Amino acid sequence: MDSANYIDIVLIGGGHAHAQVIKMWGMKPLAGVRLSLISPSSFTPYSGMLPGLVAGHYTFEQSHIDLRRLCHWAGVRYINDRAVAIDSTRKAVILASQPDLPCDFLSINNGITPDLSIEGAKEFAIGVKPISNFYQQWQTLLQQEACMISVVGAGIAGIELSLAMAERLRKENKAAKIQLIYPQKVLLPDAPQKLRQHLEVALQSYDVECLPGHRVNQFTADTIKCENDDGEHLNLNSDFHLLCTQAKPSGFAQESGLKCDEQGFILLNDALQSISHPWIFAAGDTAQQQNHPRPQAGVFAVRQGPILFKNLRRIAKGKKLRQYTPQQEFLKIISLGKKSAAASRGQKAISRTGLSAALVWNWKNHIDQKFMARFQKLPKRDMKKAQGSVTKLALPEESLLPAMHCEGCGAKVAADDLKNILQELSHSKALDTKTLTDDAARLSLPDNYELLQTVDSFHGLVSDPYEQGRIACLHAMSDIFAMGAKVHSAQAMISIAHAGENIVKRDLKRLLQGILYELERHHAQLVGGHSSLGDRNSIGLVVNGYSEPENILFKNALRAGDDLILTKALGSGIAFAAEQHGLAKGPWIDATIEQMLQSNYPAAQLAHEFKVRACTDITGFGLAGHLLEMLDGSALCAALDVNTLPLLEGVDTLLEREIRSSLFPQNMRNIRSHIDGKIPDILADPQTSGGLLIAVSAGKSDALLDALKEQGYHHSVRIGHIKAKHRDHIELL
Ligand SMILES: Cc1cc2nc3c(=O)[nH]c(=O)nc-3n(C[C@H](O)[C@H](O)[C@H](O)COP(=O)(O)OP(=O)(O)OC[C@H]3O[C@@H](n4cnc5c(N)ncnc54)[C@H](O)[C@@H]3O)c2cc1C
Repeated sequence: MDSANYIDIVLIGGGHAHAQVIKMWGMKPLAGVRLSLISPSSFTPYSGMLPGLVAGHYTFEQSHIDLRRLCHWAGVRYINDRAVAIDSTRKAVILASQPDLPCDFLSINNGITPDLSIEGAKEFAIGVKPISNFYQQWQTLLQQEACMISVVGAGIAGIELSLAMAERLRKENKAAKIQLIYPQKVLLPDAPQKLRQHLEVALQSYDVECLPGHRVNQFTADTIKCENDDGEHLNLNSDFHLLCTQAKPSGFAQESGLKCDEQGFILLNDALQSISHPWIFAAGDTAQQQNHPRPQAGVFAVRQGPILFKNLRRIAKGKKLRQYTPQQEFLKIISLGKKSAAASRGQKAISRTGLSAALVWNWKNHIDQKFMARFQKLPKRDMKKAQGSVTKLALPEESLLPAMHCEGCGAKVAADDLKNILQELSHSKALDTKTLTDDAARLSLPDNYELLQTVDSFHGLVSDPYEQGRIACLHAMSDIFAMGAKVHSAQAMISIAHAGENIVKRDLKRLLQGILYELERHHAQLVGGHSSLGDRNSIGLVVNGYSEPENILFKNALRAGDDLILTKALGSGIAFAAEQHGLAKGPWIDATIEQMLQSNYPAAQLAHEFKVRACTDITGFGLAGHLLEMLDGSALCAALDVNTLPLLEGVDTLLEREIRSSLFPQNMRNIRSHIDGKIPDILADPQTSGGLLIAVSAGKSDALLDALKEQGYHHSVRIGHIKAKHRDHIELL
């Protein structure tokens, strides 16, 4: 292991500043420093285009940055989760659903959310942020014919959204009405008079009813209770309550001990460092520069991005940090529903006098499209190398890696490091610490049970070692499940990419945490293993299973007339090949990983309950390859209805674009002589942690399918049946 420690920088949230840091990092990585992003969703909205998205001027993808794709391109590790706290003693981020993430430096750019403290807000109102929630509800609302929409809060966001929704409803000929409720006597009291007039005219033109001087006290399902300036209590009818009120940070930074102002915004010095925790940086809406407080607006987050990038690099190199003073005034361009806008800078309105509203909109559109192009048109680079650098770390100009790495037993993780990691993980029920100290694992099975053993291994497919561990474990255990057995124990052979000692330890621990998570939830244990250092992360697992002999399922015990059921969608090979080419959209990879993380155990239990005839799991040889294995040695053939085959999200598009896995040609060669006619390429796509292929007597298949769907195998489907004709043959229907 390299004796030098490398540096782990973790970014919380893919806001406007971090998106730029990642892009700039991809262009100029730093040797010996790893960057990771924690984000709960692949797409992050670009605020400037949100009203345009709602009005229907932009598509969802035009107005969102694909963070997963950006990270993959930039060689930045992507952790799909949500930060919930910071442990500043251990320098670690506490995540909502994964083990803690240790780091050396941290940066927070996670935005703000509307205050939901008004009675009934949590149950009945929808906050404008996170945008994904609001946008989903808005899509549903668009299906309705008539309703009353209430926008609570008339800051720029509330006004722009009222106008954008009104424009869209008008375009779609919907009879919905909009009311804008706010406590101030006038719209935007601090804005120039002229700008206010433009906004009022626009709101009138869309019949948006403005209710100034109204303070909301309570939300119910169909009413908003408020009090007006005259002291009257009113019950306003409303079917959809959108909260655009004063927003604030989620609060975890303050609860974690970071010094914040009275409203909970993280206080920063001029280098964008927390004034209480210099190893933590922050940017965007969630923070305030103590010497230069500014209103919350995307423009500041955007401007802070390049400074943050420089200072994260500088702190990693031990250099003096750059100081930054944000501008006093900024250009506000407010869209007015249709493709028109009004602008102001400070106390000056910029429109009508010199520029028409349509021209102002074109100007805004140009600025926004230019910003988004930075993330959509990524410069060409070797994506395979980028993926490697996620675990190997950036290897630019002055690599800290030693010139030579020993092979053989010299390429092992140090004994004391391994011992310490196992000690740290000893609370896991899946870790058999007694067995691990012996030279070999001693296994004892209950009487009358047979031992089943399987082995599988592959290089890390995803950049997060925790997910790598989970996927590798599920993939390896799947062979045992497919035979109707339970998993008893496993041995792991883990190779971690050469890096600084601290990073190797962190990755090894995280990867083991993934393996232990899966073993524990399947009531199995890790009883031994071997760890080494290599070019990239790779994981092999020997898995032991057990079953009563009479309950073991075999793959070729088929009978003519059996139905064939597939439990998961196909296309993981294609999806990951596309990611290597930078052609996969973030949500496609999200959906693929989500499916890979679905265990085959509950499906196998159902197979057992329904006394199915035969079963196998779909992995590297693809659907046709594994189906042919089922037919091997029998005098049967399979009739496959190719129109029923379930595909993962995006795979049909990628098939059209001729994206194929590198194993595809060999798989196709092996199946060609067994299938007549044109073979759909998906049949030869290798699957990682793919589904089960089950042969069940036709009378039971409907009930089995219902049960599978109930267990969460939403893609499960009958894909064909077995026929007594042609040995080892697949007939395409
Ligand atoms: C409708 C509307 C229109 C607007 N128009 C403009 C405009 O034209 N110009 C302008 O300057 N401002 C505008 N704003 C304001 C603007 O949205 C914000 O100022 C801007 O988005 C702040 O950006 P940010 O980088 O701080 O965070 P955000 O853009 O809010 O990004 C935060 C990111 O962090 C992620 N995240 C949240 N919590 C966590 C967590 N716990 N762990 C990990 N990740 C997390 C989120 O998923 C998100 O990706 C508008 C706001 C709205 C609502």
